[in-house]
Amino acid sequence: MNEERKILLEAEGIKKYFPVAGTLGKVVNHVKAVDDVLIRLYKGETMGLVGETGCGKSTLGRTLLKLTDPTAGKIYFDGEDITDYSESKMRLMRSKMQMVFQDPYTSLNPRKRVGQILEEVLSIHKICDRKDRMSVAMDTLRKVGLRPEHYYRYPHEFSGGQRQRIGLARALILNPLFVVCDEPVSALDVSIQAQIINLLQDLQRDCNLTYLFIAHDMSVVKYISTRIGVMYLGHLLEQAYTDDLFGMPMHPYTQALFSAVPETNPHIRKTRIVLKGEVPSPLNPPSGCVFHTRCPYAMPICKTVPPCQKEISRDHFVSCHLYDDEVSQG
Ligand code: SF4
Repeated sequence: MNEERKILLEAEGIKKYFPVAGTLGKVVNHVKAVDDVLIRLYKGETMGLVGETGCGKSTLGRTLLKLTDPTAGKIYFDGEDITDYSESKMRLMRSKMQMVFQDPYTSLNPRKRVGQILEEVLSIHKICDRKDRMSVAMDTLRKVGLRPEHYYRYPHEFSGGQRQRIGLARALILNPLFVVCDEPVSALDVSIQAQIINLLQDLQRDCNLTYLFIAHDMSVVKYISTRIGVMYLGHLLEQAYTDDLFGMPMHPYTQALFSAVPETNPHIRKTRIVLKGEVPSPLNPPSGCVFHTRCPYAMPICKTVPPCQKEISRDHFVSCHLYDDEVSQG
């Protein structure tokens, strides 16, 4: 499965800090939304990103697309270093990198017909002549399971699932290589969720897409993802192939997160790991390992030294001192 993998996107040391202004407008602190993340996406795969609300998943997705500039780090897309690309250079690149949002309704202009919404994207990116835009928009609607007459309707005339299909059409009309799907099914009914997930998979196969799939529903992520990354307080704590991660979660946080997922096999009994305390503020994250204030295995070193990401088995990366050579031997 992973013999001929080609990297589509690679990001190293990615940080995204948001300044916090004091009473006189002076920057007094920073929200560390994403902190020193190393991530790689291979062509044609779906990388799932999980973690509690506010852990930095969406900010990481937006930073990889350069919808917001990283505070530090490097981003390589299809072999090009795009970290310092200007807005105009990014506009050309953006046709290859798209985003699908959680709430398609608020991201669609209610005053415009679906056809206009789609054609506007082509016009902004100066793709195809005016006369051809309508047929491209119609084709894209068909691709996402909508009918030609939908071209003439307004967003409010559609159901939630159909609106998400319009969101997908808008992202796919430029033939991107990479799509960040930010909680694309969270706002939908369960039966509709399955339809959209299946559509995403069909489109991936037909259009050779690579997805970063952000969600908090573990069963959805498990179903769709080739690999999964686990985030906590802006850090990527563990990443591995889906079966490896669910078969043997190594990081104490991943173990706790997965212990809360209901087991569908009635013969397997699970013990839920309940973490103590609250998630600390990203304004003032703990020193050392950011998880040490809640970790049941925390050691003295965890309070002062941030753990490095280690590959503990093939393509299974963990950031935790439990897997340092000295600790495991000691
Ligand atoms: Fe727990 Fe220490 Fe590992 Fe952090 S580094 S997860 S505190 S054992």
